[in-house]
Amino acid sequence: MKLCDYCGKEISYFEQYCSDDCQAAANRFYERYEKFGKLFTAVNTVCVFGIPVGLFLMSFLKILGMSVASGSCVFLGLMLLFFPFPTEGMIKKFKISKAVKIVRIFGVAVMLLGLFIAGMLTFWM
Ligand SMILES: [Zn+2]
Repeated sequence: MKLCDYCGKEISYFEQYCSDDCQAAANRFYERYEKFGKLFTAVNTVCVFGIPVGLFLMSFLKILGMSVASGSCVFLGLMLLFFPFPTEGMIKKFKISKAVKIVRIFGVAVMLLGLFIAGMLTFWM
């Protein structure tokens, strides 16, 4: 049994996608990935690094540390929402359509966490 690389529907062994729509959507995804993939990785690295740095700063510079941590979370969440690029492993396992959704949901969760930290910050001030 083979599955459509985009939506995960069952297809025959001669095909890679179940429909022209899925093929077009997959092509769009890979084009975006080629254009923004590097930027995405760079920003992600900075944000993922910013969260622990912020948490560390919090122990002696509470407000600055929380700002850095919450800013990193919100920015990372927005990035994941607008440029949802899953890893290759995720694409293999879930297919593009579902993997992108999972990344978006994760992005929203990270953003909410950032807003939660920002909320605590205003509470403390
Ligand atoms: Zn499909």
